[in-house]
Amino acid sequence: MKTNNNLNSRRRFIKTNALLGAAAALSWGTASDALGSVILKSQKPALMGGDPVRTAPWPKWPVWKSETDEKRILEVLRSGVWSRADVVAEFEEKWAETVGAKRCVTVVNGTNALVTALTQLDIGGGDEVLVPPYTFVASVTAILATGAMPVFVDTDRETFQIDPDKIEDKITPRTKAILPVHVCGLPADMTRIMKIAKKHNLLVVEDACQAWTAEIHHKQVGTFGDAGCYSFQNSKNIPIGEGGAVVSDNDEFIDRCFSYQNFGNPFGSVVGAVNSGTLMMGTKLRWTEYQAAIGLAQLERFAEQNEIRSKNAVYLRNRIKDIPGIRPYRLYDEVTKAAYHLFPFRFITEDFQGLSRDAFIKALRAEGIPCSNGYATLNTMPFLENTFKTKNFKKMYSKEDLDYKRYMENNQCPENDKLCNEEAVWFTQNMLLGSHTDMDDIIKAIEKIKNNAETIKNAEKS
Ligand SMILES: *Cc1c(COP(=O)(O)O)cnc(C)c1O
Repeated sequence: MKTNNNLNSRRRFIKTNALLGAAAALSWGTASDALGSVILKSQKPALMGGDPVRTAPWPKWPVWKSETDEKRILEVLRSGVWSRADVVAEFEEKWAETVGAKRCVTVVNGTNALVTALTQLDIGGGDEVLVPPYTFVASVTAILATGAMPVFVDTDRETFQIDPDKIEDKITPRTKAILPVHVCGLPADMTRIMKIAKKHNLLVVEDACQAWTAEIHHKQVGTFGDAGCYSFQNSKNIPIGEGGAVVSDNDEFIDRCFSYQNFGNPFGSVVGAVNSGTLMMGTKLRWTEYQAAIGLAQLERFAEQNEIRSKNAVYLRNRIKDIPGIRPYRLYDEVTKAAYHLFPFRFITEDFQGLSRDAFIKALRAEGIPCSNGYATLNTMPFLENTFKTKNFKKMYSKEDLDYKRYMENNQCPENDKLCNEEAVWFTQNMLLGSHTDMDDIIKAIEKIKNNAETIKNAEKS
């Protein structure tokens, strides 16, 4: 009986999908209202009152399992040792080992991991740091926090990463570092970036705040440059609430980072005369022991989750890449592993009968598929001009340097503008933690909108 039922439902599934497939084949690129209205009710866009493709919830985030995860945190609570001690040190060791770096220092969050790395590489007032505009705002505000000047290098829209072809044009005698961001968890082209950095004697601070254990040629991002920075904020793939880390193979540098997160007190090679007291300008960015206990629990499941995301991302990408108007991210040839914090693709209005990206997103959400338009253009946000007006910046830079109009002209990123304002669409990492059937829902919803693009466009207009 059971077998029979399964067979029947399988036949039904195949039949339905064959019908949808035929409708899809017929209607792509044609005005197909007539066909659209005679097929299934389920083919009427949810945005216009049809049945949504999906009503089931998506995998919840963060994942926390009391049975396995709470033992360590209870031990910490009951011990009364809550400030930085052995559990934090254990996490640091484990993270360094996980990413294949010699050393790791934790700090309160990813933003301060970047600030720590930049300041302890002595980047500051008067220096220029090259950064992509397609990132979270903290990549840029971290540069400003040191007193250095962010210089934007345009985005490669196919990979969503900093365009290596455009880096050298932006190098001046004041350029001190490149801050590549492995945005969405997809590796930036570190092979070329490191070549350019060597040639021009530049430091490299990798923002791997979305790219835990992503790899190029089996070497992890975050270990190519002088420092790699990570975030463990709650939305990230290793969620601790808040948390950050800096990794490096350079002992002297990591000792300085450690000292910096602990008021500038002596640590390792950061030593002075006996009883000399605090040695350098530091601050306090220390972890608590409970953070580390949560982090260690999350690390237990991280590799497996990453594997699932990876498989789903490859499956989804392969099945939507040939839909005209849907252009998923491209990975560089040398990438051996991605972290998929996000699944980004480009939506091309012209291939969807002129349907706007906003309307596409609205329609996709109505079908039960959460999605967003991603980052806004960072290089045009008011925080830059407002930083230029501060006392510190006025003391460190000339009037010409702080001429905002001139700065804007020198920092135009037309490719990034197009990506942010017209094309990008994101799915979040938790959606990739389900099954291939979940991915099929995304595919069906996109195809449904594709088939009804004209109708949705007209409904949106009226
Ligand atoms: C999240 C993030 C940061 C900042 O990390 P926090 O832990 O939130 O401070 C920096 N850069 C990128 C690319 C990020 O995604």
